[in-house]
Amino acid sequence: MTYPATIAPALPTIADVLAAQARLDGTVVRTPVGEYPELDRATGATLVVKHENQQRTGAFKARGASNLLLGMSDAERARGVVAYSTGNHAQGVAYAARLTGTSCTIVMPDDPNPLKLRAVLDLGADVLLHGATFDDARAQATALARDSGARLVGAANEPDIIAGVGTLYLELFQQAPGLDVLVVPVGGGSGAAAASLVAAAVAPGTEVIGVQSAASPAAHDSWHTGTLAERANTTRAEGLAVGCGFEVTQAIMREHLADFVLVTDDQIAAAQRLYLTGARTVAEGAGAAALAAVLAAPGRFAGRRVGVVCTGGNASADELRRALGEER
Ligand SMILES: *Cc1c(COP(=O)(O)O)cnc(C)c1O
Repeated sequence: MTYPATIAPALPTIADVLAAQARLDGTVVRTPVGEYPELDRATGATLVVKHENQQRTGAFKARGASNLLLGMSDAERARGVVAYSTGNHAQGVAYAARLTGTSCTIVMPDDPNPLKLRAVLDLGADVLLHGATFDDARAQATALARDSGARLVGAANEPDIIAGVGTLYLELFQQAPGLDVLVVPVGGGSGAAAASLVAAAVAPGTEVIGVQSAASPAAHDSWHTGTLAERANTTRAEGLAVGCGFEVTQAIMREHLADFVLVTDDQIAAAQRLYLTGARTVAEGAGAAALAAVLAAPGRFAGRRVGVVCTGGNASADELRRALGEER
């Protein structure tokens, strides 16, 4: 894959992830890992769950956003930040803005998850509701940043975000050495890019696999075709609801990711249910996608030591009711 040199930012390295770990010390949680007999029984694998649902803001996004904002100069921060998001990136940026005293505007699609909207407002950010999808919100945020001089903080094409997210995986490989495989849910790709980058440096024996919803397969299709694909974007799992591939995360994933699979939204709901009943863990849809991928391919994972990242826990009551209601 080739990109115009003028617009491709430098790719982050393991040195950037180590620098992020030092910078983030004390501002984000070193989240625990858990092992659960019920999950092992259901999958036939030996699972290690990394609990980013217990991260500040309830999702891993706080890591990347905090690293980016802490790395900005005072002059840059004085102009403020703008972000667009269906929820967790918004909370991550709002959290980092409060941490650094930076003014922050978040553009969300109309009809956001009410839990995530309230959380962003509670963090002190200004919120603008605009458009039906993530992609509409992106266009509005881009225009706002251009007109105001604020820094537009994307969720994917941002080396400092990817480096910050990489700290999750440095922790995981220390907490759970000897993983045969690690499964990471993908929306824009910062998580899987970071995971595969860190694995290549510190756990080269661990295979990293990305998973996205079949109802929003843009990153998956971009990776498999080697182009930046645009695709339908209808998944219920907000964290995975992205309609196009991004150059920086795709470039890293093309270099380091072992495979990229799809699961259905119903398989994701079944994994949310298993997290609730088998691990007393609240996972939002995106947070359960890695477990869904393991449940969907027992032949591939059985007998192996498998890391799954529970990337977030910000599920609405409706979402949890639906997951439990699909029990049969
Ligand atoms: C953002 C998000 C994802 C996807 O991460 P990307 O870095 O965008 O690929 C997965 N799970 C949750 C809970 C998220 O918030």
